[in-house]
Amino acid sequence: MNSTIKSSNPATGRELKEYHLMEPAEVDGVLESVHRTFLSWKQVPLEERSKLMMRAADLLEERKWDLSRLATEEMGKVKKEGIAEVEKCAWVCRYYAEHASAMLQDQEVKTDQVRSFVTFQPIGVVLAVMPWNFPYWQVFRFAAPALMGGNAGVLKHASNVPGCALAIEAIFRDAGFPPNLFRTLMIRAKAVERVIASPLIRAVTLTGSTEAGKSVAATSGEHLKKTVLELGGADPYIVLADADLELAARVCAQSRLLNSGQSCIAAKRFIVVEEVHDRFVEAFRDAMASKKLGDPSLDDTDIGPQASIDLRDELHQQVKDSVAAGAECILGGEIPEGEGAFYPATILIGVQKGMVAYHQELFGPVASVIKVKDLEQAVQVANDSDFGLGGGIFSQDIELATKVAREQVDTGAIVVNGFTKSDPRLPFGGVKQSGYGRELSHFGLYEFLNVKSVSVAG
Ligand code: NAP
Repeated sequence: MNSTIKSSNPATGRELKEYHLMEPAEVDGVLESVHRTFLSWKQVPLEERSKLMMRAADLLEERKWDLSRLATEEMGKVKKEGIAEVEKCAWVCRYYAEHASAMLQDQEVKTDQVRSFVTFQPIGVVLAVMPWNFPYWQVFRFAAPALMGGNAGVLKHASNVPGCALAIEAIFRDAGFPPNLFRTLMIRAKAVERVIASPLIRAVTLTGSTEAGKSVAATSGEHLKKTVLELGGADPYIVLADADLELAARVCAQSRLLNSGQSCIAAKRFIVVEEVHDRFVEAFRDAMASKKLGDPSLDDTDIGPQASIDLRDELHQQVKDSVAAGAECILGGEIPEGEGAFYPATILIGVQKGMVAYHQELFGPVASVIKVKDLEQAVQVANDSDFGLGGGIFSQDIELATKVAREQVDTGAIVVNGFTKSDPRLPFGGVKQSGYGRELSHFGLYEFLNVKSVSVAG
């Protein structure tokens, strides 16, 4: 049994560094220290927590170049996106530093008692199981509200980003938070079950695949621990006949290729009414083809490598299966020569029900275009998915598009004439196999708090 975790660079295949894997006794020791720290942290006034969170934001900005470089090395993050990701982490820290106090105020309620109020109390140590695709953002969007709410956190990060995991722990420590308030557990996925079972863990949040979510939810259910699950997506983008096609093509390509296609809320299924299908496809192909694939550490690269050769090969198999079932590949679709886990921007058209590209999540730069008759069929196809994370609708009839977005598309978020992005001010999460619970905004803050009713009888 391997007692280390090794990181490697997906752009070159070369090994980067070896990290010590924690034994169960070591994990127990960390959980005990984090829990002890929680008991004093929950007494720390909000004003003091805010100051530390502001300092964490400052440190993120000071270290953004190094943090971005580390993500590029470990998971292939394109340089300009790495910097933007770290800046967004600073934003979420500042957002909760500024707004948590108002969100956490007791709320008086008129009842037949002398006094009744609702108060938001911390619950304890929260376990975060996180993915590699946004190695900083996924963690900070959990950690900033959790710590501001008075909780403590332990992180089991994806095994390909151990350096990022330790860098996050260092940010909180160096910002002046108590040293054991937020710790990284260097463990493998199969050791997570034992951590969930610990009485010191009060709740679990997982961002990752639907399979991992089901497994963590099952274990958490067995131990009656609250979970929040942010899982996969196959986000539908509907293009209606009156859409601004140039805008739709540009935005769809931008969303599909964000993070080299490895984003849960990337646009993945493009559902286009037949009247404008061919014109949209032409503009979309131009927009997708204009993005530069290459070395993620260069300033002008748009698409870096996939996070590993295995993941790249799985994606290519999904493309081949879809083509074998009748889809037509009009861009990309071939593994480039040379080292690294690269995959080009790819478009499949003629995608239909029953094909892999219609049903499965394509976690890479591959777009599935589905032709439909009209709006009614577009909505039916959009909802004909196991997933329900984000989505988009393009039309110049804003009123109609907003009504369809609000009432008919079964996803946790949807944007008219744009693409879904996470934003600290808005709740984020999915329905169906995309998970449950919400992150960000006050909804995310309340997920791991005890929403407690207190009354004085009379
Ligand atoms: P993943 O394989 O599910 O891994 C996510 C995390 O879960 C990793 O830390 C992984 O550890 C751990 N894990 C995997 N199987 C587990 C199990 N049975 N028990 C406990 N932990 C387990 O996902 P990924 O490949 O890193 O990320 C891609 C997926 O995440 C995509 O489906 C994407 O859509 C989804 N995602 C969703 C959101 C969202 O907000 N909804 C955001 C980003 C990504 P190891 O690395 O050690 O295996």
